[in-house]
Amino acid sequence: MEKHLSKYLGVELCKGLNFKLFKDRKVKEARQRMMRVWAMGMRGGQMPVKQCVNVWKTLVRPVLEYGAAVIGDVKWQEAEQIQRRMGKMILRCSEKMTNEVVLGELGWWSMKGRRDLVRLLFWGKVVGMSHSRLVHHLYSVSRAQYQAGKQSKWCKEVHALLQSIGLEHVWSQDGLSEEESKLWHATLQAKIQHREEEAWRKAMQGKPKLRTYRLLKDRLCFEDYLDVRARETMTRLRGGTNELRIEKGRHRATNRDHILHESERVCLICASGEVEDERHFLIDCAEYEDLRETMFDVVDEKMKEDCAKEVRKEEQGKQRLMDALIGRAVADKSAAVGLRNAAMTFCKRAMKRRNDIVTRYLDQKT
Ligand SMILES: [Zn+2]
Repeated sequence: MEKHLSKYLGVELCKGLNFKLFKDRKVKEARQRMMRVWAMGMRGGQMPVKQCVNVWKTLVRPVLEYGAAVIGDVKWQEAEQIQRRMGKMILRCSEKMTNEVVLGELGWWSMKGRRDLVRLLFWGKVVGMSHSRLVHHLYSVSRAQYQAGKQSKWCKEVHALLQSIGLEHVWSQDGLSEEESKLWHATLQAKIQHREEEAWRKAMQGKPKLRTYRLLKDRLCFEDYLDVRARETMTRLRGGTNELRIEKGRHRATNRDHILHESERVCLICASGEVEDERHFLIDCAEYEDLRETMFDVVDEKMKEDCAKEVRKEEQGKQRLMDALIGRAVADKSAAVGLRNAAMTFCKRAMKRRNDIVTRYLDQKT
């Protein structure tokens, strides 16, 4: 089946012998395309994120999905790396930004998830085909072999995949009803989304950089703030790869030879003795209190809070403010946009002030 189908689709595979060559060629082609689209319009940062994502989806990603319907379950790290690289380019963030943040902010599945979707869509198409079609015939023969305990890699893998996402019954009935067929794409989308989301959440556990991110985000979906220009500061703050001491203290600096314990990574800007993490920067640090006025006015207005300054005095209140400002706690869209913009303006100004202070008065390697 694999061999015939592969030929049918023009994928030159022969029992996996040339598979490495095939992958290498596709990786090279995808990289070339990626650099071309980067040079053609993304580099300047003018192209909106949604448009960049469309370019990736229509011009680059298909190269890595070519033949995915018949190739089967393979480990392909380079494909994942290319996707993450492109994600970082689109987000305009550092190479060091955590992979989970890149996928999380853009709401992307792994490339494996994409290939699984393509494969199961193809299976749905094959079982619904007229029995006189060659592909359907090949499939039937292959399935009969598999049922008889003989080898059929493709059928075995499709079966396992359907089982793993809770669709065993569809395999057993060997076909889709009219209703199921109509909803097939949406069903697969939902099932794979669930699986990808679980894997993504699991991968986030135990990563110190994601201290803030884990609190702000638990769904794998596109973030609306990316539509706004000057979004980079927000991505850096949410994603934990930034210049705050909580992050910098994780690494050795030239004038100290040890990694600072978390409690030692205190804010050197306000000297309050508090750890300089994302929350301290956004909500508490006294050095930026004047810049915070406008942002808190928006909070008072949009969240109908008595007073943001009062709310922040309590632990729970602090987290509520964080969620509203740089998370997605507020359901009302226009209120959410207002809060995000206010937070973004604050972050940009405050970070500039912070970095000026660091450059002028502090040893930069703190
Ligand atoms: Zn401070």
